[in-house]
Amino acid sequence: MSEHKSKRRVLVTGASGGIGGAIAIALSAAGFEVVLHYRNGRDAVEAIAAAIEGSSGERPRLRCFDVADRQAVGVALAAELEGHGHLWGVICNAGIHADAPLPVMKPEAWDSVLRTNLDGFYNVVQPLVMPMVRARDGGRIVAISSIAGIAGNRGQANYAASKAGIIGAAKSVAQELAKRAITVNCVAPGLIETDMIAGAPVEKLLEMIPMRRLGQPQEVAAAVAFLCSEGAAYITGQVLSVNGGML
Ligand code: NDP
Repeated sequence: MSEHKSKRRVLVTGASGGIGGAIAIALSAAGFEVVLHYRNGRDAVEAIAAAIEGSSGERPRLRCFDVADRQAVGVALAAELEGHGHLWGVICNAGIHADAPLPVMKPEAWDSVLRTNLDGFYNVVQPLVMPMVRARDGGRIVAISSIAGIAGNRGQANYAASKAGIIGAAKSVAQELAKRAITVNCVAPGLIETDMIAGAPVEKLLEMIPMRRLGQPQEVAAAVAFLCSEGAAYITGQVLSVNGGML
């Protein structure tokens, strides 16, 4: 199997973001061909693609779509599958937050976060599964959840619900696909230094983190790369926390 490894393709959603970019770089370094997804962050994803080309010699293909737009996702993934065959793996990393205490949370904040983070998982993973199964080469699905999806977080009922939902979905799909040697796991980051936490009260937050520092995107990426490795072939339906000891 290992001789196929360099040809195995993995889609990384939100590769224009802090964590997704680091995941794409880590998976490329691990020998995967990566397909980079983005929505608005063209310059950011181009920079990641250039870094990967510089180290691997191969320019990753870019795919642009809104993960919340089921039809657009379907069209883009159909083009990917028709043009290049099945994807061996997918990393569902694209996500947003729109925080507010529930009594003042606007319907749009609830809807947009659930549509992006939870529906996005279905929209992206569902079209990829049957081709993955038919290829009979196993596979990997990794979803980026959050500590908020495990423990909840004040002001993040929408975000926590979406991230808890991903865990339930991943555990279910893990059971469906286990016989096919396709593993489905979640990584649950704590507080990671990216644009997503820009403006957060970092000093105050550090008091909640036993390690007293923010995590780095590369530390999340390392967990994802492990779950995509041959060594993790018997791990499925799990949630791997990367949070400096928060729980
Ligand atoms: P960033 O804001 O840096 O990146 C978010 C990524 O998601 C971008 O690539 C963005 O694409 C993409 N994205 C957002 N909405 C959509 C959409 N509707 N369609 C397609 N792509 C979309 O955040 P992080 O890198 O920090 O976050 C990555 C993941 O990690 C998220 O799921 C987040 O919830 C999770 N996470 C982050 C934590 C943190 O502390 N940073 C903690 C726990 C979990 P583009 O910019 O191209 O539009």
